Amino acid sequence: MNIYHVSYTEKFAGERMAMLSFRNCNFYCIGCIRGKDEYDIYAEERRYIDWTFDGILRELARLDPHRIYLGGYEPTLDPDLIEIIREIATRLDAHIVLMTNGSRLSREYAEELKRAGVNEVIIGVKAFDREKHIYYTRRSNEDVLNGIKNIAEIEDAYFRLQVETLLLPGINDPSDIENLAIFIAQIDPSISMFIEPWIPVPGVEFRAPGKEDLIDAVSRAMKHLYVVSYHPLYSEIKKIRETPRRAKFVEILPRNP
Ligand code: SF4
Repeated sequence: MNIYHVSYTEKFAGERMAMLSFRNCNFYCIGCIRGKDEYDIYAEERRYIDWTFDGILRELARLDPHRIYLGGYEPTLDPDLIEIIREIATRLDAHIVLMTNGSRLSREYAEELKRAGVNEVIIGVKAFDREKHIYYTRRSNEDVLNGIKNIAEIEDAYFRLQVETLLLPGINDPSDIENLAIFIAQIDPSISMFIEPWIPVPGVEFRAPGKEDLIDAVSRAMKHLYVVSYHPLYSEIKKIRETPRRAKFVEILPRNP
């Protein structure tokens, strides 16, 4: 089992939400957020539990989240992932969301995920341009783009797809995001897209995206897709977190690491 960390909030837009973070990744993104903090950058409190899958499941049952996200580094590298999903789906009544870099979503594996009980797959496209993707991640984006097609083919009301893409000037610009939107629209314009502005990481020399970049990216994507949403800029999140509207995150960690 590659789960190394759980974070939880009681009120994220009215929902209880838990995130299970998995170790290991097959990409080497230059601006990986995990380089900033591999735990929860927003956590305000810590709890420690016995670190077995049963112990984590018991904790999840106690917290009773509406949504459980499987993310962190790359969950699909965990050989136990299908079994983990099956157990969560059987023992808890939650919407299960898999967040992946999309590199391992063959048609066969996509069907296994669906059968196991995943309700939603979020595929993160780091860059639509092939060369820039290789530069940024050291991997081709061919499998990622095929992964989008494979999930879209078996998508239904209980197994949804969302394509998340990074907004990072010089790597995935608003024009690249528009090209990705065109690619997705050719599969199905009702597939939803989420634009995630890059969070600056110390020692990494990219220009942080600004409001104009975000507005440009969203408007370009909206020309081709019905549903486009976005995350606020990191500078905006910091301001939101100073208001009473902020969600309080609790980290759950191994008692004996
Ligand atoms: S795919 Fe995600 S976890 Fe892996 S290196 Fe890239 S940003 Fe980091």
